[in-house]
Amino acid sequence: MNTDDFVVQGEVLPSVYGPLRSRRHGLSLGVNVGLTDHKVCTWSCLYCQCGFGEKRDYRSDETRLAVVDLLDLIKTEVFKNSDLDVITLAGNTEPGTYPEIFQLIQGLQRLKIASRAKWKIVILSNGSELDREEVLRAFNLADEVWLKLDVGVEDQFQLLNRPIHRVGNLRQHLDRLKKIKNLRLQTLIWSNEKEGRLSNANEPNFQGLVECYSELKPIAIHLTTVARDPALPGIVPVNSEILQSLAERIRNLNLTAEVKN
Ligand code: SF4
Repeated sequence: MNTDDFVVQGEVLPSVYGPLRSRRHGLSLGVNVGLTDHKVCTWSCLYCQCGFGEKRDYRSDETRLAVVDLLDLIKTEVFKNSDLDVITLAGNTEPGTYPEIFQLIQGLQRLKIASRAKWKIVILSNGSELDREEVLRAFNLADEVWLKLDVGVEDQFQLLNRPIHRVGNLRQHLDRLKKIKNLRLQTLIWSNEKEGRLSNANEPNFQGLVECYSELKPIAIHLTTVARDPALPGIVPVNSEILQSLAERIRNLNLTAEVKN
């Protein structure tokens, strides 16, 4: 999922990175459960800060760090950094694709209890794996799961987020999001100085998003814009007024929205 707070364009991430100061979550230790030599994701968002990488499912023969080794790395960093606010699953992949996701979240919970830590377990995700029972159980164990909703109209979902075929359409995405307890949404709005149709900052999309929020009733919505180099050249941030105006429309639905730019 989304790497929007942490990933530097063109670089791949180690399995554990940081801690880094996140604009949304405070001091965060990042955990990349993907490959550490290139990006693979079930979506291929035009603004992705990891570049385009590969848009596909993982293959069963691809080796990823085993959960015991990953937890060992995390433990080492946790004991070195006593002031962490969060441990965040976000890197150059979708966290739900990690084969041992349930064991990982369970291990983090045990570590948190054993060390009497105050940090939260946060997952940033596009939600593509939520049809799998084990992923859903794992995500619902985390303290916060922030799921991606950038577009509220079907043609823009396919054009801008570019999910793999299995993910399906916007309706299927929304139905998956509904499975999470205490739904939190992250929405990134961007402009395009080269080709306007490759932007989601347009009224049909804003209206579609408002209708989606109204249906999903998330407990929190973060609105952001691009902060680092996007995969597609020409993508640029929108100004804060655009985000504030969308936030106001969301608040009129009696929902909570914060601009985080
Ligand atoms: S969901 Fe989009 S932004 Fe997040 S890693 Fe995948 S392609 Fe990048």
